[in-house]
Amino acid sequence: MKNIVIFGAPGSGKGTQSDLLIKKYGLYHISTGDVLREQIALGSELGKIAESYISHGKLIPDDLMIEILDDVLSKHPESGIGVIFDGFPRTIKQAEALDELLAKRNSQLNVVLGLEVEEEELVARLLNRGKTSGRSDDNLETIHKRLDVYKSQTTPLKEHYMEQGKYVAIHGMGAVEDIFACIQEVVDAL
Ligand code: AMP
Repeated sequence: MKNIVIFGAPGSGKGTQSDLLIKKYGLYHISTGDVLREQIALGSELGKIAESYISHGKLIPDDLMIEILDDVLSKHPESGIGVIFDGFPRTIKQAEALDELLAKRNSQLNVVLGLEVEEEELVARLLNRGKTSGRSDDNLETIHKRLDVYKSQTTPLKEHYMEQGKYVAIHGMGAVEDIFACIQEVVDAL
């Protein structure tokens, strides 16, 4: 069983590399952004709350986000084969909660794959995605807010996981398949 966090700024390629990981290793994929966007599309109460944060580039409050993830794991026993966590954790509190959520399922986090991409490239990728994604947060103003939120609230996780010896830096620029080759090396060695 392999539990993997795919970590990085918005636009760093987490979704793209997750798709390749799913194909290669058959792990269960949880993108918290996708979970929230599904709720928005359904027009649920949760979706309305989520949209009010997402459209402003802000993070959903930790307690709510942790409850949502707990619920997804419980409703999907197939996640017991190992999970690719994409977009979670985004704060230290979420990282601590993830350890607890996995421990209560007799499991643990194996590795954090940190996709490292220069800021200019992130903005260019997100603007490009915005042409077709239909996402309310892929516009220049919200992109900058999301990158600020990433820097202030999410980057401390890198050090947190380095201290635990779980962080592996992946050079996230260049061809998708070259980046995946680096990821594969790490995952195969787990
Ligand atoms: P993503 O698809 O991962 O880029 O997430 C899109 C948006 O969903 C983020 O900008 C946040 O508003 C929200 N979101 C996704 N995952 C989380 C999380 N783990 N904690 C808080 N907010 C989140």
